[in-house]
Amino acid sequence: MIKSPSKYPAKHKSIPARGGVSTAFGLKWPIIWAFPLILQIFTFAAAQSSDVEIRLDIDGKRPKITGSFAPSDEQRAKNNISFVLSTAGVESLGERIGNVRAFDADGAELSLRTLVPGEYLAPRPPVRWSYDIDLRPPANRLGSPHVSWLGMSGGFLMLGDLLPFEGRRERSARVKVVLPRGWRTVSVHPAVADGSLLIDDVSRAVIAVVRENTQPITFRSKRGAGYEMLITGEWQFSRADAEAMLGQIAEEYEKLFDARPAERVLINLVPFPQGGGVGDWAAETRRATVTIVSGDTPFATQSPQRLHEQLRHELFHLWLPNGVRLKGSYDWFYEGAALYISLKTGARVGRITFANFLETLSQAAAIEARMPAGSLLDASAGRWRGNTTGVYARGILTAFALDVAMQDAGRGKRSMDGFVRRLYAENREREADGNGTILRMLGEMPETTPIAERHIKGSERLDMAKIGLAAGVAWDGRRFTLTEKPSGRQRAILRDLGYNSERRRSRYQNEK
Ligand SMILES: [Zn+2]
Repeated sequence: MIKSPSKYPAKHKSIPARGGVSTAFGLKWPIIWAFPLILQIFTFAAAQSSDVEIRLDIDGKRPKITGSFAPSDEQRAKNNISFVLSTAGVESLGERIGNVRAFDADGAELSLRTLVPGEYLAPRPPVRWSYDIDLRPPANRLGSPHVSWLGMSGGFLMLGDLLPFEGRRERSARVKVVLPRGWRTVSVHPAVADGSLLIDDVSRAVIAVVRENTQPITFRSKRGAGYEMLITGEWQFSRADAEAMLGQIAEEYEKLFDARPAERVLINLVPFPQGGGVGDWAAETRRATVTIVSGDTPFATQSPQRLHEQLRHELFHLWLPNGVRLKGSYDWFYEGAALYISLKTGARVGRITFANFLETLSQAAAIEARMPAGSLLDASAGRWRGNTTGVYARGILTAFALDVAMQDAGRGKRSMDGFVRRLYAENREREADGNGTILRMLGEMPETTPIAERHIKGSERLDMAKIGLAAGVAWDGRRFTLTEKPSGRQRAILRDLGYNSERRRSRYQNEK
C-alpha cells in the first residue's frame, strides 16, 4: 500500500460514533432467527462455515448485520464477540458498532458486558449475533482504503473490520449482502446459487458496493488472469488510457514474476468519499483486491501519469507481499521493492523519463537524510507509528543499492528483478519469517552481504555517493546525476534501469 507520504498525519482522528438507537430496526427486521427451530435448520445449512447476512441501506449508512459462528469446537469455547478496534492508522473502530445482541445454541438471548466498544463478553459462548454499524466514511480521508465505509456512490465492505471474528482462528464465512434496488456488489469471491459469497478468510476479503449500471474495464492476461477495474467518479484521464495502462502493467509484472497473481483481480478506483484531497491518494491491496481512493490531480495532464503510478505500485503488491506466505514486519523490503520496481517499470515502458527516475531517488535521499539513525528492520516494525515516509525512502534507496550491486557483481545474471522473482517463487506456499528469508538470500551473495549486515540489520547509513556508481549514477551532495561518459558495463545496467526507454513512442492519448 502507499499513501501520499508527506501528507499522512501522525495522529489520526477517531471515527465519531453515532449516538442513539434506531427503533425502526425492530419492526423492519423481526428476529425470527432467535427461534430454536429455525436456528437448527439454519445451522445445518451453514455446514462448517459461519453464516452472515449484511443488509445495506446506502442512504442511512448503518447496515444491520446478523450471523452465526460455525458450529466448531473452537467457536464453542469462546465467550466473547470481538471486532477489530483499529487498522492501518484508523482508530476507535469499535465505536461504530451498536445494538449488539447475542444468542446461545438454544436461541436464548445472552446478556452482554461491553469491555470496550467493539469487545463484548457473554456468560456462555454466543452462537448467533446481530448488531448494526455506522459506515460513514472515516474522518481521516487517508484511512479510506483500509476500512469499510459507504458513500453516496457506494463503498466498500472490508469484512475484517465489519465482522466479529477478531481473535478467532476460523475465518471462513458465507456472506449474503442484501442491497437496495439499483446497487450490486463486486468481488473476487465465488458466489453460490442464492447469491451468497463464499469467503475463505474474512480478514482479507473486500466487497465493493457499486451502482448496478457501473461498467468495469476488463483485461485477460496471456497467463489467463482476469482483471476487472471499477472506476467511480469523474477523472481527467480517459477510459481508454485506463484500459491500456491496466493491460500494460499487468503483463509487465506477470512477465517479471513469471506468474499470474491470481485467477481474478479486482481494482477499485474511487474519489475520497469525504470529497477534496486534490493531489492526495491512499491505497491498499488486500489479497487480490486493489482499492485506490484518490483526489484529482491539480493539472489535467498529471492525471493519467498518476493513475499509471498508482497501478504500478499497487499491482506489484498482488505478488509481494500478497502472493507469498512470508510473515512478520518486512515492509521495508516489499514497500521498497514496490517503489523501486514500479519506478524502474515506469522508465522501462517510457511512462517516465530517466531524469524522473533519478529525481525520485534524490527526493528519497533528502527524506532519508532527515531520518534518525537506526536499523531498517527496527524502523519497519514501527511503520504505523509515524515514520512511514522514512521507511519508504530508505526502502527504495536500499532496493536501488541492492540492484546496482547485484547487476555489477553478477555481470547481468543477477538483479533485483531476479531477486523478487525468486523470493516470490520460493515462498508462495512456504510459511517463513519474511526478514529471515530475505536476509538469508542476501547473505548468499558476496555483493549484498555487506549491505544487509551494515544497512539493513545494522544502523549504518547508505553512502549516496557510492550506491549508484557501478551504474554510472553519481551523487553531487544534493541529487543523483548521470555520469557523463558511462562505461560499457555502466551502460548495460542503465539500460536495465530504463535509461533511453523514453525514446519509445508515447502510448496514451492524454500524454504530452
Ligand atoms: Zn505499497
